[in-house]
Amino acid sequence: MFHDVGSKGYISLEELKAKEDYPTVERLEKGPIAIIECLQDIPCNPCQDACPVGAIKFSQQDITGIPLLDQEACLGCKKCISSCPGQAIFVVDYSFSEELGTLTFPYEYLPLPQEGAELPGVSREGKEVCPVTVVKVEQRPNLNKTALVTIAVPKEYLEIVRFIKYRRDGVSNE
Ligand code: SF4
Ligand code: SF4
Repeated sequence: MFHDVGSKGYISLEELKAKEDYPTVERLEKGPIAIIECLQDIPCNPCQDACPVGAIKFSQQDITGIPLLDQEACLGCKKCISSCPGQAIFVVDYSFSEELGTLTFPYEYLPLPQEGAELPGVSREGKEVCPVTVVKVEQRPNLNKTALVTIAVPKEYLEIVRFIKYRRDGVSNE
C-alpha cells in the first residue's frame, strides 16, 4: 500500500481515520488508547516489541507491513510511544474531563516544557490550533531518552492537535 506521506511529511486525519484500526468512538470514550499514525510499509517493528499485551500486530506476515492496533487489548499504557523511531505513536484519553481530553506525545527537545504551562497546540501540519495545558512531563531515560509530554486539549481539537509550540528559552511562544 502506498500513501503520500513522504511528499507532504505528515499523515492527514482523513488518511488516519481510513486506517482499519482507528478506534471507534465507543472505545475512545472508555479511556486512554494508542493511536498509531504509521502508514508506510517500512521494515520496522519496535512498537510491537514494546507492547506488554501484544496489542500491536502487523498487516502482513513480516515487519514491512503496517502496524495495526487491537483497540480492545490496548491499555493506553504509553510504553510504545518512546519505542517508535518515527515518533508516530500517540495516546489519547477522552475520559480526562467533561470538556478536555489528553494527548501524550514523544518530545525530544530541551528544555522540556513545565507542567502547568499554557502553550499553543499545533496540528500535524504545524499550524496553531488552540491553547493547551501541559499536565504531565515524563522522562524515561531507559527508553531512548525520549520524554513523554501530556497536554490537556479541548475535545473538539483532540484529533487535530499533535504537538506544542515551545521556544528554546522556555518562556513562551512566537
Ligand atoms: S499504549 Fe500500551 S497497551 Fe496500548 S499499544 Fe501501546 S504499549 Fe500496547
Ligand atoms: S515503531 Fe513506529 S515507525 Fe516503526 S512500525 Fe511501529 S509505529 Fe511504525
